[in-house]
Amino acid sequence: MPLRAILDNQELLAPLLSDEEWEELKRKKVQVILPCCEARGHLRTSKLGTKHFAHNKKDGCN
Ligand SMILES: [Zn+2]
Repeated sequence: MPLRAILDNQELLAPLLSDEEWEELKRKKVQVILPCCEARGHLRTSKLGTKHFAHNKKDGCN
């Protein structure tokens, strides 16, 4: 699961964001680019509560 992504031209590490920042990014529906393959992605929280990014397409690179 990618932890790093580009949001609004700014590189972010998901685990370093507070819950409030994370929720705000979700609410704003900011565009997420995954640097691994420059594909579009989105914010996701795992069952264990780990903030991370996910590829929009299921056949993402990882
Ligand atoms: Zn990728």
